[in-house]
Amino acid sequence: MPEPKKMHIEIDKKSCKRCGICQGLCPQQVYTLAKDGSPEVTNPERCTNCHLCDLRCPDFAITLEVLA
Ligand code: SF4
Ligand code: SF4
Repeated sequence: MPEPKKMHIEIDKKSCKRCGICQGLCPQQVYTLAKDGSPEVTNPERCTNCHLCDLRCPDFAITLEVLA
């Protein structure tokens, strides 16, 4: 399993259609869904930079950045 990295995860709320795919696919439970279905980045420290979320987001709404 990849080592967790310090990550910054940005969700473009204007592009996001609240499909929940990112939350469903993330193996590290980085996201939780708000009542309106929009994903919140609640556990960024768990992110392993696997790219399951941003590569599968149908609206290209997720940006992952590895912090130093
Ligand atoms: S996969 Fe993309 S469009 Fe779907 S909820 Fe996540 S950020 Fe929004
Ligand atoms: S890159 Fe992987 S571990 Fe990180 S938030 Fe996306 S799906 Fe989760």
